[in-house]
Amino acid sequence: MATSEVAQARRIVTEIPGPQSRALQERRLSAVAKGVGSAMPIYVRRAGGGIVEDVDGNALIDFGSGIAVTNVGNADPRVVERASEQLSRFTHTCFMVNPYDSYVEVCEALNRLTPGDHEKRSVLLNSGAEAVENAVKIARSATGRQAVVAFDHAYHGRTNLTMALTAKNMPYKEGFGPFAGEVYRMPMAYPYRWATGPENCGTEAAAQAIEQITKQVGAHNVAAVVIEPVQGEGGFIVPGEGFLPAIAEFCRANGIVFIADEVQTGFARTGRMFACDHEGVVPDLITTAKGIAGGLPLAAVTGRAELMDAVHGGGLGGTYGGNPAACAAALATIEAIEADGLAERAAAIGERMLGRLRALAAKHDIIGDVRGRGAMIAIELVQGGGDKTPNTEAMAEVVKYCHAQGLILLTAGTYGNVIRMLPPLVIGDDLIDEGLSILEEAFARL
Ligand SMILES: *Cc1c(COP(=O)(O)O)cnc(C)c1O
Repeated sequence: MATSEVAQARRIVTEIPGPQSRALQERRLSAVAKGVGSAMPIYVRRAGGGIVEDVDGNALIDFGSGIAVTNVGNADPRVVERASEQLSRFTHTCFMVNPYDSYVEVCEALNRLTPGDHEKRSVLLNSGAEAVENAVKIARSATGRQAVVAFDHAYHGRTNLTMALTAKNMPYKEGFGPFAGEVYRMPMAYPYRWATGPENCGTEAAAQAIEQITKQVGAHNVAAVVIEPVQGEGGFIVPGEGFLPAIAEFCRANGIVFIADEVQTGFARTGRMFACDHEGVVPDLITTAKGIAGGLPLAAVTGRAELMDAVHGGGLGGTYGGNPAACAAALATIEAIEADGLAERAAAIGERMLGRLRALAAKHDIIGDVRGRGAMIAIELVQGGGDKTPNTEAMAEVVKYCHAQGLILLTAGTYGNVIRMLPPLVIGDDLIDEGLSILEEAFARL
């Protein structure tokens, strides 16, 4: 495993945020649009391994990975070297003007790594939202149909079409309409909140979704079903058993393109290269971004050759899509994931965290649910004593304490009551344990 130059220890030398961060925050308020949020107003100097160092010299434990992006760690030396080498040769030609080999090589790698051994093609883009938009374009073009199905609690991005696909109004959609048409929302298999209990959730939710698609939309009108195999922003919801295979089978039987949005779950995050691998589900199209290039902006749609190649020449692309430095970074990232066995490492991180978190939940009944896959773990906070009403106040207090102690934690969930943990896969066990101890203290102090 590559070692980071950043010392792998938490260190708190000022109050958090420190004076330098506070000064930058002042400047920010009169320069940066208010609509852009930050989980913590702590400004970064450098980062690596499981540590983020701020401008005041504090070293924070990273349970966020910049939202599941730096799976291989920040500034991994192999990523830096390969991207730097590329930057020194050329920064941009536009693949649509003069192509280059690294774009082709990233597509070859994606075609090899994504689920299924059928013939595949890929297209490279800049962001997760852009990948989802392109997947829908491809599905519509290939099927000649218009309707797109998404699910409760879904998050697919912030562009107009992906806002329409995203479930949660505040903050993603509020005031930003009108939204793209021909988007239909179906029930999601959310085991913790399924009325008849988690055991029946997968099959019952699939049956409901399929009935509603059939009755409300007409299966023959549906171009694509878009789903996150583990929902991210929605609260790390692992669908009830059988849900994904049933939806995928319904799609196959009705000529509907099954799109797995693996923007957050991809690249070893869940303990497999892709989350679909856990259930043996083979999507027709898969969207990737976040973890793909060690922090550089890159995204992709990969899928069945006959669907991908159904689009007319010139129909897909973008000025920066598959930028050469981002492609070089992606190739180094993929090599690092495979060479360092990071999928296995993610699974081990998950086991380690789940054990401690389940013990914590046994002590504090406001932790209603502990869930996740691999190094994508969350706890859902409720009132306790059998009352599942979301407990946003406790969540805010816990997160505030952890942040002040130098633990980077993120929140999620339709009801704003989920704490999610996404450490870089190169983090040491000692930092995971220390981070969990801080979390335990936060609950003890409530
Ligand atoms: C983050 C995310 C997106 C959007 O990606 P951006 O790069 O922010 O546009 C889409 N889908 C899922 C599942 C995501 O987690």
